[in-house]
Amino acid sequence: MSTLSDRYHAVLDALPPNVKLIAVSKTRTVDEIKALYDLGQRAFGENYPQELRDKQPLLPTDIEWHFIGHLQRNKVKYISSFVHLVHAVDDMALLDELQKRALAADRSISLLLQVHIAQEETKHGFDANEVRALMAGWDPVRWDRLVLGGLMGMATNTDDREQVRREFEGLASLHRELHSAQGEHHPRFTELSMGMSGDADLAIAAGSTLVRIGSSIFGPRG
Ligand SMILES: *Cc1c(COP(=O)(O)O)cnc(C)c1O
Repeated sequence: MSTLSDRYHAVLDALPPNVKLIAVSKTRTVDEIKALYDLGQRAFGENYPQELRDKQPLLPTDIEWHFIGHLQRNKVKYISSFVHLVHAVDDMALLDELQKRALAADRSISLLLQVHIAQEETKHGFDANEVRALMAGWDPVRWDRLVLGGLMGMATNTDDREQVRREFEGLASLHRELHSAQGEHHPRFTELSMGMSGDADLAIAAGSTLVRIGSSIFGPRG
């Protein structure tokens, strides 16, 4: 039987130094999260706003909380006062709500734009042209509390590794294009969130800077 520490260090050992691990702790208990914290992990990712709202006060304040799931506008309020990075922004109305809640909390909120790269219709995100248009038309006054930190994507859930590789390469190439076209207006546009337990190796090879890994560390979700 492998221990949490064995699995955590195996994941960490496979990461190049420029890639950051987000430990995905959705459905895990506060005790499980604390055990990983005690091994040194500080960045955690959650998918459900109420679950995150309930766990956050029970855990150390130096945890960096990443919201990685689909975020509904009416749930932004549960996480807006403390979230470190919102990974999956997929519509303009969500930007306005994040701006409003950031103002109310007197802070800035950093976010990534989710790009739809998978074949599956069920996955969320902008298409490439929508992201280009959104960034070109970015209103720095309307969204003065928002920091655009880069892009996020989820590959198709398939055994076809060549397809997954192509999807990650496509997202990385869009990120490079926007970084050179818009970097002057968005100096923090540096992150590329892609890769989970099953495909992190392919994501890293394509240029990921943030991998979101749950089951390889904590074990299968019940
Ligand atoms: C659950 C989830 C992950 C982690 O998945 P694992 O297969 O457990 O590594 C990563 N990203 C998102 C958006 C998720 O919902």
